[in-house]
Amino acid sequence: MKNRCTVVILIDALGYELAESFSAAGLERRVRLRSTLGFSQAALTTILTGCDPQDHGLWMMYSFARRSSPFSWLKYLPGCISSKKLWLRKAIRWKLERLDGVRSYYSLYEVPRPVFPNLDLPSRKRMFGPGGAGEKKNIFDHFIRTGARWRVWDYSVDEKLAFEELERELKSSQEGFYMLYTADLDSMMHIHGISSEKVERKLILYRERIERIIGAAPDARIMVLGDHGMCDVTRGIDLIAIVNSLGPGTCAGFIPFYDSTMARFRVTSERAGRELEGLLSGVDGGMLLNRSSLERMGVFFNDGRFGDVIFLTDPGTIIVPSFMSSEPIAAMHGYDPGAGCMYAAMLTNFDSGGLEMDLREVARVMVPDFEAGDKQ
Ligand SMILES: [Zn+2]
Repeated sequence: MKNRCTVVILIDALGYELAESFSAAGLERRVRLRSTLGFSQAALTTILTGCDPQDHGLWMMYSFARRSSPFSWLKYLPGCISSKKLWLRKAIRWKLERLDGVRSYYSLYEVPRPVFPNLDLPSRKRMFGPGGAGEKKNIFDHFIRTGARWRVWDYSVDEKLAFEELERELKSSQEGFYMLYTADLDSMMHIHGISSEKVERKLILYRERIERIIGAAPDARIMVLGDHGMCDVTRGIDLIAIVNSLGPGTCAGFIPFYDSTMARFRVTSERAGRELEGLLSGVDGGMLLNRSSLERMGVFFNDGRFGDVIFLTDPGTIIVPSFMSSEPIAAMHGYDPGAGCMYAAMLTNFDSGGLEMDLREVARVMVPDFEAGDKQ
């Protein structure tokens, strides 16, 4: 008998709570997936490798540079030139893509120019392909080794077109592994919030499209899942102003990186580090993450490449302004994975082995003969 093909529809930010009202005929099994601390790069790489971020290494889009930085040339520009200048953004992109060979998804966001030369981009290849997880093996490396047939539609393909192509392909051939990834729902919720009418309409559209996919391949193993949930934003804290209140002397002793829900600091002066920790431990709206909580969440890095001091905001609270955006947004993720709103959903038409799972277990559900680990 021919092996059943597997179809994975990976909807960024399809949270468990959100999916409670989402149903598609044929997908009766529902799993609550515990996500990982971080943003989509961390969660998606965990799904594709079966490893925690501290093992696959692609925790955050930006790390602090350990040796050379692909942005080091920016320190030779006059201090008055902002990284918001269009010509400079084009030059940064040209250098990253042409000279550094960056093929991964990245954004320059609103990272200030003086911070860039201290940063690195740990992810260099396309995530949804062989080599996408660096030293670690992902499911696509596994397919290359086993000679399995696979096809992927990722963020580079328009969502509507991807669903149409997937349906057409399944009507003509059902062999191997098919994966469709879309980030449209994630972007929509960031702008409009979780319970907006637009989101409701989007879920209805997904249900229709997924039912067409099930209709085109009724014998396939079908999985629909998210990588994390989403929380409505109820509060913003101006952490940059709070940290800057330490004064320029102390602030010269660390390099900050302000994500929307996390502030990470590379500390270069012990005294400044102690003052920073003292200040952050008293900030209302978040908490400092110590070594044991980072280890428990699978995101502890001994060399501090993502920061020696890490502050995480409470669910629903964002750092604004941050290096991501100077404006508040309606909903966010990147909180403690134990928060109810952070769980992702996985819906299948087969028994995946439990009602509660960890994101690391998804790789083995998608590809039963996959074993997590190094490439060779
Ligand atoms: Zn997002």
